[in-house]
Amino acid sequence: MFNKTMQRLGEERSVIREIFEYANKRKQEIGEKNVFDFSLGNPSAPPPPCVEEEILRLAGVAAAHGYTSAPGAPEVRRAIAQYIRSEFGVPMSEDLVYMTCGAAASLVITLSAILREGDEVLVPVPFFPEYRVFVTQAAGTLVPVSTDAAFHLDLAAIEAAITKKTKIVLLNSPNNPTGAVYEEEEMRALGALLAKKNAERSEPLFLVVDEPYRELCYGDPPVYPMAVYANTVVLYSFSKSLSLAGERIGYVAVSPHCAQAESLFAAICGAARYHGYVCAPSLFQRVAAKCLGASSDIELYRTNRNLLYGALSGMGYSCIVPEGAFYLFVRALEKDAKRFCERAKEHELLLVPSDSFGVEGFVRISYCVPREVVENSIAAFKKLFEAYRRT
Ligand code: PLP
Repeated sequence: MFNKTMQRLGEERSVIREIFEYANKRKQEIGEKNVFDFSLGNPSAPPPPCVEEEILRLAGVAAAHGYTSAPGAPEVRRAIAQYIRSEFGVPMSEDLVYMTCGAAASLVITLSAILREGDEVLVPVPFFPEYRVFVTQAAGTLVPVSTDAAFHLDLAAIEAAITKKTKIVLLNSPNNPTGAVYEEEEMRALGALLAKKNAERSEPLFLVVDEPYRELCYGDPPVYPMAVYANTVVLYSFSKSLSLAGERIGYVAVSPHCAQAESLFAAICGAARYHGYVCAPSLFQRVAAKCLGASSDIELYRTNRNLLYGALSGMGYSCIVPEGAFYLFVRALEKDAKRFCERAKEHELLLVPSDSFGVEGFVRISYCVPREVVENSIAAFKKLFEAYRRT
């Protein structure tokens, strides 16, 4: 009676959301402080002061709550293009910036704009689970590509995976779920590889970079993707940098160096129209424009990262120190990550198994939580480790 695909997606729900719902139920049963909910990437650091100032300044002003142009308010797109020009040295035009309801909407419309039936999208593993949904809805095929031991790019694997059907290489750096931040050198090498492959074909090969965690880096910030390859589209979101995940605001920026940039932008406008994503939240377009370059206090996440990584690796868990974002990717203590998560649940530790991220045998710990949650969870992680040692 209904669209079967949609019904299945609704009934299955995402594994992450499932655990998040369980966490809320469990907190009601045994009290919030007794549950260690590491499921969702919901920022715990308060938004920077510019957010509140701009909300208060504009609250009740009719124009700030009304429709904007479909791609966004002209002054907001102008401010973002100006920011990209001054911050990254790319001659960005406001005509190539589309305001969206966060990175999720940016992904949906960009993939829909570029892909045709059967086109392939290469994605290094592990990857944000919704990529599979978004690529599939755009009639594309997601092709997982292996990474190296530190979850950085394996260029040989990418080169081997590129076929005539490959339309997009989709990256996410800083990465969810591994915390890897691709280095400038590896991004430049990828850019050179894509340029070589692009020169061999009649249709452009695109690099799409999903970077909602750009400001959340514990070392050097990532190179701007448009600086390494011409046919690049950047998907940005203010969900994490400004702690505005629930307000749904971000943008798509098409590189001015991109082949047929204006036509691609027109296709992005069309995809946004088709999916009903025109006119991103009006007030938050303005807030975002006012807060460009600002960020929530990343030191809170750094403290959590250091605490958690130090404690877990000290106990004997195997994990790689995250370079950015707020996730720790840890090897499960048995092959079956789902079963490991079930056993972790017995200690009220709510972790996400890696299967839906495209690899087996790991769990993701989302440490964008109050510091006390991390501190109080350490004993539970220890008990879990010891329980495995005994069996
Ligand atoms: N892409 C990645 C890699 C993410 O981790 C997330 C959210 O966690 C999204 C996209 C969606 O972000 P948004 O809230 O901006 O839609």
